[in-house]
Amino acid sequence: MSTIVGIDLGTTNSLVGAFESGLPVLLADVEGHRLTPSVVHFPTTGEPLVGLKAARAAATAPDRTIRSVKRLIGLSTKDQLDETAYAVVQTSEGLRIPIGDKLFSPAEISSLILCKLKNDAERALERKVTRAVITVPAYFNDQQRKETKQAGELAGLHVERILSEPTAAALAFGFGGQGDARQMIAVYDLGGGTFDISIIAIENGLFEVLATCGNTRLGGDDIDRAVADHILRQCGIDRINEKPESFARLLDACRVAKERLSFEKTAEINIPFLSPSAHIDFSLTRDVFERIAEPFIHATKENCLRAMADAKLVPGDLDAVLLVGGSTRIPMVRRLVAEWFGREPDTSQHPDEAVALGAVIQAGILSGAVQNTLLLDVTPLSLGVETFGGLMNVIIPRNTTIPAKAGEMFTNAVPGQTSLLVHILQGERELAKDNFSLGKFELPFETGPRGSGRAGIQFEIDADGILRVLARDTRTGTEKLVEIRRVTDISDETVGRMIQSSVEHAFEDMQERRLVELEIKARELLAATTQALLLAGNSLEREQTETVRQLSGELLKAVEARDPIGIEKGITSLDDATQELAAKVIESLI
Ligand code: ADP
Ligand code: MG
Repeated sequence: MSTIVGIDLGTTNSLVGAFESGLPVLLADVEGHRLTPSVVHFPTTGEPLVGLKAARAAATAPDRTIRSVKRLIGLSTKDQLDETAYAVVQTSEGLRIPIGDKLFSPAEISSLILCKLKNDAERALERKVTRAVITVPAYFNDQQRKETKQAGELAGLHVERILSEPTAAALAFGFGGQGDARQMIAVYDLGGGTFDISIIAIENGLFEVLATCGNTRLGGDDIDRAVADHILRQCGIDRINEKPESFARLLDACRVAKERLSFEKTAEINIPFLSPSAHIDFSLTRDVFERIAEPFIHATKENCLRAMADAKLVPGDLDAVLLVGGSTRIPMVRRLVAEWFGREPDTSQHPDEAVALGAVIQAGILSGAVQNTLLLDVTPLSLGVETFGGLMNVIIPRNTTIPAKAGEMFTNAVPGQTSLLVHILQGERELAKDNFSLGKFELPFETGPRGSGRAGIQFEIDADGILRVLARDTRTGTEKLVEIRRVTDISDETVGRMIQSSVEHAFEDMQERRLVELEIKARELLAATTQALLLAGNSLEREQTETVRQLSGELLKAVEARDPIGIEKGITSLDDATQELAAKVIESLI
């Protein structure tokens, strides 16, 4: 199976990784960077730049440099958007970014970032990459998810799954393993421009986002700006008089200083020629920094409380608080979160890599590289066998927790049947032909009258999602065992399509099932009537025999015409008319 990469397509930074030699690893680009700034720059001539090179160009041409395009994805109107350094226009198809004489959709810009990640991954892995798992915030709606997927496809990636960022983080932190008891976790994600808090329940490897809350306008960038403003004030420089390029340089220096202050007590900000008149040589201490950053960090408290209230939980109910997002490296964030939740947060994972790592783990699960830990510990679709009349007979319903075992007894539909065809199906449709066929095999069957044979069919799915089907002729003990591939390896898209079609066709499927069941019943009754007439026909009045014959003929016609109402009526009439015949048959047998 080809490699599936995991991608964290972040507002500020993006990452890509894959399973290598059984381990989830994040892949570096040619310069050795694993973090790719989510920035695209369009030079006046030539190919667009992506990543660090584009971020560097931002200062000189902010109007041709697209940052934070994730904020635009899936939006239809501009009023949902803040001011951007680049132009955004509203069209009937959604928001577009004009560059030169071209209009780019947010998905197209995102696809350029994904393209770079794909190329970096291919270079690092030395093989083609065509499939991906991409993460999105838990609150992303259908349209936002759809456009993210579209971005992947534009980049030449088949998107196997869109995964929620907090779920990905939980996976990276090692939650959701086999046999773990129900756990409640909070994922606190403070990035460059957004804050998210999600409360997740994990049980049997299933992840459920109970509540999610946040602020799409709050993150490390705000802190950078506040630090820059503070420095300008302290140095007596009026920001208004500074060119945007100079301010961008200052912001970048402030970001570097902020990041250093997560590990050191002081950081120097030194820009000798910010402008001809302004020289900056500033020493920022952690104490001063914290005073500047405090209001921004504090603003997340209310979201945390809201999410907990929405999930109807108190801090004591939580098993862990996970910190993700680059800005959670700030010691003050860790301190305050510990205070609000009354527990030390789990910081065991790289904060800016955890989401990507989770995407890689999910990709590994889908490609089969990860054994023993299954995210989807339930059957994504129902499993069953085909029965008389081409119907689906479900043995293990969809969403059953695995490992699972279930069985059913079947009998022969035809007298003298010497084998039983076991056709294994997966899907939600009523008719066998509309479901996925997983395999077929024949079980030798001791011949006998219709309905006299007994065969047991057992389905067993192990913890790895492998399905074993056992069929046994209970009279002879003959049995056959077949092993089917991992039935849990099925993309979200396929599952979604199957469920969608089962909903769309629910009515006609039900009609068809009812018709087939009636036909089976009618044919059984017709066969029994013929048999009874042979056995005891002579002891009936001639008229009665005629009536039975006539009703049989009518029922057969209704069956041939596939007329459910006619069949139903025919069954009732023939049933009534054969009461005496049935009694005579019993008499003749005694
Ligand atoms: P996103 O999920 O929005 O793409 P990230 O999780 O990559 O963002 O976080 C980016 C933010 O994290 C930036 O504001 C960056 O300055 C900040 N950051 C990264 N490292 C540190 C650090 N050591 N200390 C404080 N902030 C940091
Ligand atoms: Mg992020």
